[in-house]
Amino acid sequence: MKAARLEAIGGFFVREVEKPVPGPDGLLVRIEAAGICGTDRHLFHGEFPSRPPVTLGHELSGIVEAVGDAVLHFRPGMRITGDPNIHCGRCVQCRRGRVNLCENLQAIGIHRDGGFAEYAIVPQKQAYELPLSLPPEHGAFCEPLACCLHGMGMAGIEAGSSVVVLGGGVIGMLVVQLARLAGATAVVLVTRQAVRRTLAEEIGATGSFDPSAGDAVAGITGRSGLLPGGADVVIECAGVAETMAQAPRLARNGGTVVVLGVMPQGETVAFEPFDLLFREVKILTSFLNPFVHGRAAALIASGKIEVDRLISRRIGLDDLPDAVANPPRPGEVKVLVMPGLT
Ligand code: NAP
Ligand code: ZN
Repeated sequence: MKAARLEAIGGFFVREVEKPVPGPDGLLVRIEAAGICGTDRHLFHGEFPSRPPVTLGHELSGIVEAVGDAVLHFRPGMRITGDPNIHCGRCVQCRRGRVNLCENLQAIGIHRDGGFAEYAIVPQKQAYELPLSLPPEHGAFCEPLACCLHGMGMAGIEAGSSVVVLGGGVIGMLVVQLARLAGATAVVLVTRQAVRRTLAEEIGATGSFDPSAGDAVAGITGRSGLLPGGADVVIECAGVAETMAQAPRLARNGGTVVVLGVMPQGETVAFEPFDLLFREVKILTSFLNPFVHGRAAALIASGKIEVDRLISRRIGLDDLPDAVANPPRPGEVKVLVMPGLT
C-alpha cells in the first residue's frame, strides 16, 4: 500500500510499504480522509519532536476492513474516527485522570504510523463509530473538534455570553460554531483574511474584526466597539504573540481567557499583572482532547457543525509532501488527504 512517511526532518515521501496487520486489539482501517494540521508542518520542519521513520496523519477516519481477535464492538464495514492520543494508564497523571498530560503519551500519526496512508491500525479503545450515511470527509474533523471541545469545557460559556475568538483557521472556525451552540449570543472573530471573516459570519459569528485595520482591543472593547467593556470569554486560536497579549485585554472584568493556540517553544509574551489582578481575569490553557472524542464524533454525526465549507482542497497521497512542505495557501482553512483520490 501507499503511505506518506516522515523519514527525517525535511524528508517526507510517499512510499510503497507493507499493508499493516492488526494485533488482537487493533482495527485495520481503510482511510477515507485525513486532515493536514499545522503540527504536520511542524513535524516536517523539526519544530515538534517526532520519531521517524513514521507515517504521519493524526486526524483520521475510514472504514474498518478487518479486526483483531479481541475486538468487541467493531466489525468490518463500520466507519470510525480515531482518537490519536494513546495514554499509558499507569503514570501519575493518568491515575489522576489527566490523561492528556500522560508522561508516556503516544500519538497515532506522530509516534506510530497514522492516517496519511491507504490503511492504518487503530486500537479499539481509540476508535469511535460514525454513521455510514455521513460524507466521508466529515470524520477527519473529529480530532480538531475534540481539541476545541476540551477548551470549550473550560470556557464556561452560558446562554447570552459574549465571546471573542482570535484566529480564523480551522480551530477558530470550529470554536465560533461551538460558542454559538453553547448559547453565546455575541461571537466576534478576529482574523486578518477577509474571506475568513466573511465565512465566519456565514457560519455563526455575529461580527468580525480585521486586526490589520486597527487595534483590536480598542476596536472591540472601546465605548463604540463591538463588545464595549470586553467579552465574557476570549478564546485564543492563533498561537502568535500579538493575540496572546491581546486575549486578556479583550476580556471583561472577571472574564475568562482560554488558550488553544500553540506558540513556538521559547517565545514569551508580556502581561500586566496589575491589570489581571484587579480585573480578576482568568487565563486557562487547553491541551489535546481528553475524554471528548466521543462527543466530537456525536457532534459531527449530528450535522450541527458546518465542515463542508471549511474544506479548501482535497488531495491524493501523491500531492501530500508538497502540501506539508509549504505553508497554507491564502484563504485555505483545511486540506484533506483522501487516499482514494489519484
Ligand atoms: P492556523 O490555520 O494557523 O490558524 C491560525 C490563524 O490565526 C492564522 O491562519 C491567521 O489567519 C490567524 N492569525 C495570525 N496572526 C493573527 C493576528 N495577529 N491576529 C488575528 N489572527 C491572526 O491554525 P489552526 O489549525 O486553526 O490552529 C490554531 C492554533 O491552535 C495553532 O496554534 C495550533 O497549533 C493550535 N492547536 C492547538 C490544539 C490544542 O490542543 N491546544 C489543537 C489543535 C491546534 P489570518 O491570516 O486570517 O489572520
Ligand atoms: Zn500515563
